[in-house]
Amino acid sequence: MQLWKQLLLGTYRQADMPRRWWNNRAAAAAGMAPLSVLFYHRVADHQPTPWTISTTMFGRQMRWLKNRYDMLSLDEAQRRLRSRVNRRPAVCITFDDGYADNCDQAIPLLLRERIPCTYFVCNHHVETGELFPHDAAAGYDFAPNTIQQLRNMAAAGIEIGAHTRNHVDVAAIDDERVLHDEIVTAGEDLEREIGSPVRYFACPFGMPKNLSNRAFDMAREAGYRGVCSAYGAYNFPLDDPFHLRRIHGDPQMARLKNWATIDPRKIVERSGFEYSAAATAGLSSSETLFDDGTAGQASSGTPAVAALWEEG
Ligand SMILES: [Zn+2]
Repeated sequence: MQLWKQLLLGTYRQADMPRRWWNNRAAAAAGMAPLSVLFYHRVADHQPTPWTISTTMFGRQMRWLKNRYDMLSLDEAQRRLRSRVNRRPAVCITFDDGYADNCDQAIPLLLRERIPCTYFVCNHHVETGELFPHDAAAGYDFAPNTIQQLRNMAAAGIEIGAHTRNHVDVAAIDDERVLHDEIVTAGEDLEREIGSPVRYFACPFGMPKNLSNRAFDMAREAGYRGVCSAYGAYNFPLDDPFHLRRIHGDPQMARLKNWATIDPRKIVERSGFEYSAAATAGLSSSETLFDDGTAGQASSGTPAVAALWEEG
């Protein structure tokens, strides 16, 4: 982005901040504080990429978040979602793919600060050390984590999750056996390799077009506790706790603050993914409340909450 645009945007966000904090407090008072699940990829100081954040910035973000939010495990976030009331804004930290660089600074920092973390990896890459295709294509030689690193992390309290065997788009797989291998067998193999339970699954790419009811069903039937998407959405107490919506842990502090203080446009404008099993299980979702922006017509939930985030 051009510098003048960045400056302009920064000024706007700063000016907008008091209203954001008011929104946050009002939502919390109504028991509707959001649970934001952030995802990161790589924390390192060499070879910056759009999916890398520097160790200094990562440390700054973690401290900023820790001073303002409850830092939760996915387990605890789900427990709050199931209770259908959340009075304290909360954040969960997750990582995708599994880069060895993260073990230098990021993971030790999280352990030191006692910030819970779920770390999603792809079997093939952690087993063979083969580079991710998107890294290789761009000329980077970022090593994946080793199995031993994952064992150490799990032993230290980091939750290791599954992210398919080959970093594939699960919505694009028609063959049931292939899908089962990528979602279910991959998780079982990982569990055996690291010697710890693998309880969560994150869909690679994670945009609505990369998610499918079939994949979610398969993960649920296999006993995963939850599936993560990554298209940039909050979790509210009326959302289905099985589907954990995530937000990119942006390298820019201003953008992270923007997300973390509830951007009303992010709620009203987004078109997300609805896992239909949630509907059949009788769980309502706050997304239906917000998508049309007409809180008065919402069939359930707390209409007052939607009004909190109206622009103006
Ligand atoms: Zn990924």
